[in-house]
Amino acid sequence: MSKTFKCRHCRRWCKRNPRIKGVQKYCGSRECQNARKKKWDHDQRLKNPDYRKHRRTSNQRWRDKYPGHKYQKEYRESHPDYCKENRRQQVSRNQNRQTPAIPPKIVKTDALTSESVALQGLYVLLPYKKAVKKTDTKKIVKTDALIVQIVAGTGFTGGLFPNSS
Ligand SMILES: [Zn+2]
Repeated sequence: MSKTFKCRHCRRWCKRNPRIKGVQKYCGSRECQNARKKKWDHDQRLKNPDYRKHRRTSNQRWRDKYPGHKYQKEYRESHPDYCKENRRQQVSRNQNRQTPAIPPKIVKTDALTSESVALQGLYVLLPYKKAVKKTDTKKIVKTDALIVQIVAGTGFTGGLFPNSS
């Protein structure tokens, strides 16, 4: 067996730990050991129902003992850099929220006006295409027509009807 191996997580060539029996796949760094444990946990959850059940109940017990808000409070207190960075990001998140890229269209659903361009009522929407031959002026109409309702409204200014006055 060679004295070095390639770590599955960090992909670095590392010296083999002689105390480990079998094939070593992960180096000893904290990050790679966490990755190894995470993968083992994931595999066990997939193939071992007893393990899955056990983890579920022990997680439940942990959550009862340390409710989320308490854990988060403690985490924030012990990670001031995280709080500072999160506050900074939240400022930009708020700014993004206040200036949406596409301004919303102002449409009043209860708006009725005498200036409406179309009469309200039921209309049939028919897809058509112009006939290829010049002599044939008949439009090809599909019979599976869509019935639409025309409702008069206000607030459709500018963008929707640029040429209307
Ligand atoms: Zn590694």
